[in-house]
Amino acid sequence: MKISIVVPCYNEEEAIPIFYEEINKIKIAKVKFELIFIDDGSKDQTLDIIRNLASNDKNVRYISFSRNFGKEAGILAGLEAATGDYVCMMDVDLQDPPELLIEMYETLQNTDYDCVATRSVSRNGYSFLRKLFTKFYYKIINKISKTEIVDGARDFRLMTRQMVDAILSLKEYNRYSKGIFSWVGFKTKWLTFENKERVAGTTKWNFWKLFAYSMESIIGFSTIPLLISSIAGILFCIISFIMIIVIIVKTLIFGDPVSGWPSTVCIIFFVSGVQLFCLGIMGQYLAKTYLEVKNRPIYIIKETEKDVK
Ligand code: UDP
Ligand code: MG
Repeated sequence: MKISIVVPCYNEEEAIPIFYEEINKIKIAKVKFELIFIDDGSKDQTLDIIRNLASNDKNVRYISFSRNFGKEAGILAGLEAATGDYVCMMDVDLQDPPELLIEMYETLQNTDYDCVATRSVSRNGYSFLRKLFTKFYYKIINKISKTEIVDGARDFRLMTRQMVDAILSLKEYNRYSKGIFSWVGFKTKWLTFENKERVAGTTKWNFWKLFAYSMESIIGFSTIPLLISSIAGILFCIISFIMIIVIIVKTLIFGDPVSGWPSTVCIIFFVSGVQLFCLGIMGQYLAKTYLEVKNRPIYIIKETEKDVK
């Protein structure tokens, strides 16, 4: 029995040694571990450190990208490279407690679950604004998407080979793993834990990155925004039709010419605003389609442990 642990790392020189030490404390009888570090184009000593670990420990493998491709690309590369019977995703900052791995493994072994995933109940260590937007985001996405996106779900999870293969069969370019994990189905058990602060280094996310990420997930997992823009279009047609009738009738009865250009200008501005907004929504979907159609690789590998060993 082999468990692959996929660990995406971006500028994590401080966290990796601590992580490596902690993960080596985890021992499960008759289970071999394979650690796969993904160096996501780090600009610090991350690659040197994992190269070193790999040359001293045959259970450590790594993939180094030619530039920063983002965590989603890292997850995909790790899942593709993993050879274990079970595959685990884990952050390197120890915000995901490695000791949970034992419980996850036992659940997969002794029950018919295909996956054990984790969610953090609290959001300690995150700013007030991030907490607020996160809450709001989960409300919206779960209203408009058929795929359930679990509030507070982390990428930390242990999956069976069958589930990993299902995930890898989704070849989309715009990847949102939380959605993909849920989309492929399978029986998932959720463990909850208190969110922890990272052991070292800093978070790689800022407000705008998260905002863009959430928009991407909405576009990736729902077409409701397109429906909203169609409904807005119909609504405005109906309103304008009523207004036309009212003006014609008023003029016929009272002979009253339409008065006031300020109101006209306001209407023009308002309606063209709505039009641009709807066009923007369509543009977002078109842009994503454009990226899918280009069919570029999701990541480019510069170096792996095979180049050194
Ligand atoms: N990460 C990555 N590529 C990126 C950004 C982040 O591989 O472009 C990795 C990072 O090294 C860490 C994990 O993704 O192991 C989670 O990142 P972080 O801890 O910054 O996110 P947070 O926990 O604050 O959501
Ligand atoms: Mg983190």
